[in-house]
Amino acid sequence: MNLPPGPPLRAIGATEPDFERDLVSNLYFQRGTTMESASVQDVYQSLAVTVRDRLVDRRARTATAHYAANPRCVYYLSAEYMLGRQLRQNLLYTGTEDVAADVLKGLGLSLDEVADFDVEPGLGNGGLGRLAACLLDALATADIPAVGYGIRYDLGLFRQTIVDGAQVERPDDWAFDGSPWEFPQQDDRQSVGFYGRVEDEDGRRHWIPAETVLGEPSHMLVPGYGTQTVNIVRLWRARADSDAFDLADFAAGRSAEAVQEVVRSENISKVLYPADSTEFGRELRLKQQYFLVSCSLRDIVRRFHLRNSDWAAFTDKTVIQLNDTHPALAVPELQRLLVDEYGLDWDTAWSITRRTFAYTCHTLLPEALETWPVELFARLLPRHLEIVYAINQAHLDEVEARFPGDGELRRRLSLIQEGPERRVRMAHLAVVGSHAVNGVAELHSRLLAETTLADFARLWPERFRNVTNGVSPRRFLRLANPRLAALISDRLGGDGWLTDLEQLRELAPLADDPEFQQRWRAVKRDNKLDLAGYARAATGIRIDPDALCDVHVKRFHEYKRQLLKLLHVVALHHRLRADPHTDVPRTVIFAGKAAPSYHAVKRIIQLINAVAAVVNADPAVAGRLTVVFLPDYNVTRAELITPAADLSEQISLAGKEASGTGNMKLALNGAVTIGTLDGANIELRDRVGADNFVLFGLDAPRAAEVRRGGYRPDQLAWSDPDLAAALEAIRGGRYGAGFGDVLDAILGRDEYLTVADFRSYLDAQDAAAAAWRDPARWTRMSILNTARCGFFSADRTVADYSDRIWRVDPIRVPPR
Ligand SMILES: *Cc1c(COP(=O)(O)O)cnc(C)c1O
Repeated sequence: MNLPPGPPLRAIGATEPDFERDLVSNLYFQRGTTMESASVQDVYQSLAVTVRDRLVDRRARTATAHYAANPRCVYYLSAEYMLGRQLRQNLLYTGTEDVAADVLKGLGLSLDEVADFDVEPGLGNGGLGRLAACLLDALATADIPAVGYGIRYDLGLFRQTIVDGAQVERPDDWAFDGSPWEFPQQDDRQSVGFYGRVEDEDGRRHWIPAETVLGEPSHMLVPGYGTQTVNIVRLWRARADSDAFDLADFAAGRSAEAVQEVVRSENISKVLYPADSTEFGRELRLKQQYFLVSCSLRDIVRRFHLRNSDWAAFTDKTVIQLNDTHPALAVPELQRLLVDEYGLDWDTAWSITRRTFAYTCHTLLPEALETWPVELFARLLPRHLEIVYAINQAHLDEVEARFPGDGELRRRLSLIQEGPERRVRMAHLAVVGSHAVNGVAELHSRLLAETTLADFARLWPERFRNVTNGVSPRRFLRLANPRLAALISDRLGGDGWLTDLEQLRELAPLADDPEFQQRWRAVKRDNKLDLAGYARAATGIRIDPDALCDVHVKRFHEYKRQLLKLLHVVALHHRLRADPHTDVPRTVIFAGKAAPSYHAVKRIIQLINAVAAVVNADPAVAGRLTVVFLPDYNVTRAELITPAADLSEQISLAGKEASGTGNMKLALNGAVTIGTLDGANIELRDRVGADNFVLFGLDAPRAAEVRRGGYRPDQLAWSDPDLAAALEAIRGGRYGAGFGDVLDAILGRDEYLTVADFRSYLDAQDAAAAAWRDPARWTRMSILNTARCGFFSADRTVADYSDRIWRVDPIRVPPR
């Protein structure tokens, strides 16, 4: 479809009168109100639509350009997207930030108060979801045709509240007040089957599902920065058929029965990661995965058929990236579509399937590699299980041909894990069904090939590669930290660095310039004042903007070692009571969610809050040490904390963190990292320089060695006076009774070597404090961190994917 010829339907200019007219008009026609009687919510909704219209115009031109070019397109399949708030991003990308602020001012409102109504979509959990959002941003910025596919969850992960020091999960009903950024497309629904049986029909296998659910798409716009391209992220919401409601039941007063069918269907997109502690929850998760994959593949095929008819062209036009194993069912689903529905022969179909997919692995933890019971798989997706078995047979035949007689190898490489309960290994399915497999940092990709997926790397070394993660400089510097962005643009003479982050190198010569240092520190201090204002309102705790702002912010997991940080805090508390000058004035900020069923880390959150309560009330350390747990970590909170951070805690046990992206965001904002040689920390340290990174701890090979030889954390712990004092304080009840269980985890097995790394960590913290005491030295380190981490731009990540895996070219979208 083409745009109507002639002049645009409506001028959607960037001038103040244009913008004001559209805003007022939207208030009137969309909200049915006028400036005199509008609420701030009305103004927010109208402002959103006003900005959105400017993107819609670009979107229409993008679609036209893509249709004309019939290009190769990237389809990104992900169970999560952490998009962050949309309003400020879209104002920036349409160049209407200042205009909007001025117009609102003229109407007696501030952009800040209106923008506060913008709600972050609750579609993600952590780094994997934020990576998806950063990649979509960079894809659009690079003018690469791309569609992100995901699920439109009604409720996000959860809203974290703290009650009596403990995490309490509340529903994250992110779209409760309406979500102006979404475009529902009821007419593009897909039908998704579940359960049922498989029959032979005209010599073909034919799946007859017992249940069907509708997938209703809506999309959100994904604009590129400094370009006309607007891509989309297409999100599927589960709907029951329009006659699923049982009128007769309802008339008879059986209201619960009346909606049973509707509820059962719509449960599929109700929440992100339903609890998997029950059979119901586990089945629902697998249903979600198939729902995402089935809707998305049909949509991808539909798009392909808009301009192409020959399946031979499919792999030229299509590359599908699997963000972790959640969408790995796409492999048997595409094979099923091609063979069962389009009648291709098995080998042709398999060749297409395998060349279409690429798989990004995000973990090294064997327990995080997804598997599904064959029994459940067989019940829910009977035809897919047949296909998985057929893929497996051919795969194991290939293994046998290459390594004859090695039954043990075949067992390890199989898609099926044998045992009392046979299970389908989703990572194996993803590797076998993909032409490229990548890890997300150099160390991670190497360890994947040497350990977790070693047998596959031996079988197909050419499939394995590395693509180090990156973050969007628009989101995490320009939008999150406008003060620093302004200072940088001022010095660099423009904002070209926003799409060419290596330009930040030009800041390096200023690292020792006293005047520049002073401005740099002033920005950081103002950012800390903003954070302090928020922290005061959220927790009642006061933050000193001149204290070292030391942040450990990320999901809670034992491998990320929040407990190591907390033991440092307790040790400091103890030391400061004896000598108030043993450390620099410091604010320690924790933020992050714990999975609802992960009891061990929820206990750590409780202990953090217990320690915070005592430390913050202790006059002996007043002005020296403050501890804050900021609830409900999400992108919005990250954007507030990151610009204020001085010290970035990246202290996972080496060999456990795949990459990390929090480390990149923080360094980009001038925080100095204290970290282990883990994930992308290694590449970060190589780039910013060893002098500007505070290193500690065992490296991955030594950690593995310690794990192998008779490690005795209990003995080691009590022989370290600082650690012993910290343990005694906790055990003795200084922070409240009953926290012994938290310590047992590290004094018993200490899976993540917290005790082994403690001394090195404490010494490194003292070194960091020494550097902080010399403001010129610290500021130099801070500036050099920002100056030298251009590599960690998501633009570079997308360029790497494009060169090494996707092989896609940009399509320029002409301006109006
Ligand atoms: C960047 C980000 C993460 C990832 O943080 P890591 O430190 O890499 O684990 C998680 N959550 C949010 C909200 C983020 O913005």
